[in-house]
Amino acid sequence: MLEITKESIEKATAKARIEKPRVRVIEFRTYAVTNKNGVTYTVKFYKVNGRKFGECDCVATRICYHISSSLPIHLVLSEQMHRQTV
Ligand SMILES: [Zn+2]
Repeated sequence: MLEITKESIEKATAKARIEKPRVRVIEFRTYAVTNKNGVTYTVKFYKVNGRKFGECDCVATRICYHISSSLPIHLVLSEQMHRQTV
């Protein structure tokens, strides 16, 4: 599990803009990210004590562009879930 911070996500976001992978929602917190070679990785998000964490099953040991490209979708879904429960 890798912590998502402004710093850790920055580089990966730049790469996601170039790579433009396809992101599909499997369920809330779990996303399937397909790169341009057609390889799909599974990304998961967690929240622990108010800190955000991400996990991807690719070989990267840092926040990868699979995580950064699914983050905006995750944030929108989180927002919607939050509104529904209030
Ligand atoms: Zn990845």
